[in-house]
Amino acid sequence: GVTRVYGKKETRFKALEHVSFEVPEGSTVAIIGKSGSGKSTLMHLMSGLDSADEGRVVFHGKNVQEMKRKEAEKFRAREMGFIFQSFFIEPNQSVYQNVMLPLEIGRVKLSARKKMVMEALESVELADKSKARARDLSGGQKQRLAIARAIVHKPKLIFADEPTGNLDSATGEKIIQLLFSLNKTMGSTLVI
Ligand code: ADP
Ligand code: MG
Repeated sequence: GVTRVYGKKETRFKALEHVSFEVPEGSTVAIIGKSGSGKSTLMHLMSGLDSADEGRVVFHGKNVQEMKRKEAEKFRAREMGFIFQSFFIEPNQSVYQNVMLPLEIGRVKLSARKKMVMEALESVELADKSKARARDLSGGQKQRLAIARAIVHKPKLIFADEPTGNLDSATGEKIIQLLFSLNKTMGSTLVI
């Protein structure tokens, strides 16, 4: 039953009104609609990046909206992966450092980190670029880096907001195949 209203008075805009649905665990769900129809807004609410004005977002029995900020951050870092266009990589850091970030936020044991980062980079075929600066990657490589960062901690739930938006169709096809194969191999729920 989520509602999200942006702005006030003459700029007031109701982006979502009493939206209700359920995403079964392990499924792949595509949110489809015209530009401006509220897809990104919905994904921001689902992932706890933004709060609904009305309604509840429940993940594994927990109301994401009611969590304290610190708790919500830790929860997201451990259970969710994000591939958002506005949520991009750190350009001046290395590919390796970018993928390491969620493990630092999620307080993963130091001894386990290197193996997890390299596995994620291998799954998107970027292991040979681990020392490169993120800004020096091509568009498709950056998108694959964003995916590696989103999956490095093997999240239960992956959000991808128009993950192929800026890519040519061949590269886009590869990214989509990669995301679907992750859903199969890791059993992650995938929301695109
Ligand atoms: P989509 O992702 O489907 O293209 P969005 O969720 O980004 O759509 O936007 C839905 C509507 O909400 C659009 O009309 C947009 O202009 C409006 N909107 C989005 N973010 C804001 C904001 N921060 N302030 C005001 N209006 C916004
Ligand atoms: Mg959008």
